[in-house]
Amino acid sequence: MALVPMKNLLAEAKRSQYAVGQFNINGLQWTKAILQAAEEEQSPVIAAASDRLVDYLGGFHTISAMVHALMEELSITVPVALHLDHGSSAERCKKAIDAGFSSVMIDGSHSSIDENIAMTREVVEYARLHNVSVEAEVGTVGGMEDGLIGGVKYADIHECERLVKETNIDALAAALGSVHGKYQGEPKLGFKEMEEIAKVTDVPLVLHGASGIPRDQITKAIQLGHAKININTECMVAWTEETRNMFNKNTDYYEPRVILAPGVHAVMETVKSKMREFGSSNKAAKQQVG
Ligand code: 13P
Repeated sequence: MALVPMKNLLAEAKRSQYAVGQFNINGLQWTKAILQAAEEEQSPVIAAASDRLVDYLGGFHTISAMVHALMEELSITVPVALHLDHGSSAERCKKAIDAGFSSVMIDGSHSSIDENIAMTREVVEYARLHNVSVEAEVGTVGGMEDGLIGGVKYADIHECERLVKETNIDALAAALGSVHGKYQGEPKLGFKEMEEIAKVTDVPLVLHGASGIPRDQITKAIQLGHAKININTECMVAWTEETRNMFNKNTDYYEPRVILAPGVHAVMETVKSKMREFGSSNKAAKQQVG
């Protein structure tokens, strides 16, 4: 099956009150685990390359070719979007689109709202020509974002409204207390602000930094309009724990396929459990007809 634009996935998810998981890729085996998890769960999925990892992963064309080829070789039937996460400029988003990504995030959240709107509009205009979806951000997700470590800055409702109305984006990441990476203490999302922003913008919302957010808060975020939820840290932690165990227990092993297998399996199990938590399992068929 060909890649699908993220917009289609999110519209159906929002209508049916669940969220599609975005899982960041960290290499070929990782991508394979995400695709196979989606197929086993019969769930739509968003595979994402963080802009800061694009060169490490071999560049836009390599990533796109890898995802396309794996989908064919693994006979993936569920809908998959390939997304650029935290695109750092309009140029980078255009490169991803030219390489075959079906969705991009332009992250102008560190600029003024006028600059954010200008760069987002440029990306939306280009994306529309290629049937590609666009996500943009207001406010600051805490922790590590775009390679910078910072605190949380809540999204301003008027800026959210302006960004959506003046750019016609398909999804909005409104920062409301979440953090990329591990939380220190209990995560507390701003549900009052979330409800208000969802009402005035009326686009699917995106929850960044969802690793470590308790299930009840995830469920509430979905009820209040989140149709895309991003997970990276939980997969990385699961992979690292299993890989470390493998090294510690088997000091004489040296074949990468064998050494990396438990870590890859852990990524797959994490992705599957998140799909169940987000309510996207067994929703693939409905996506394709709807
Ligand atoms: P975590 O690493 O906290 O899961 O966040 C992922 C994310 O939001 C990617 O944009």
